[in-house]
Amino acid sequence: MKLTLEHDPESIQRYAHIKPPRGLGVQRCHIPCPGVGRQCTLESGHRGPHVAHDWRGRVTAVWEGGRAVQGSADARKRVAEAATRRDDPGADSPSALTLLGRSLARRFSSVEDVVMLILFLAFLGFAVDWFLRMLG
Ligand SMILES: [Zn+2]
Repeated sequence: MKLTLEHDPESIQRYAHIKPPRGLGVQRCHIPCPGVGRQCTLESGHRGPHVAHDWRGRVTAVWEGGRAVQGSADARKRVAEAATRRDDPGADSPSALTLLGRSLARRFSSVEDVVMLILFLAFLGFAVDWFLRMLG
């Protein structure tokens, strides 16, 4: 079963009530419609046929089958779980150096910050050198 807005404008109206999921961060199904340059815009792991919408939310294609939907959804889930596990600090006890590096990277996120740090250290070195000269 495959309906497109171009070839089946009448039949596709039966699916016009299906709206794309709203909100950012929604995992889309993304199964490509065979023979049409469109992808399923429904939520990942949805039931029923795949539906492609245009940017206005209008149904432009409806089709069944495609590549294993459930397997794809599971693979996505596995990838997401792996990513979550990597972010978990308790998962693989990082060394103190790694933690220091991470906190430094967080603190000095921009190039300006690093330049300021280098200038500050150079000034500090100069001041200490000058101070020691004064003593000597
Ligand atoms: Zn789909």
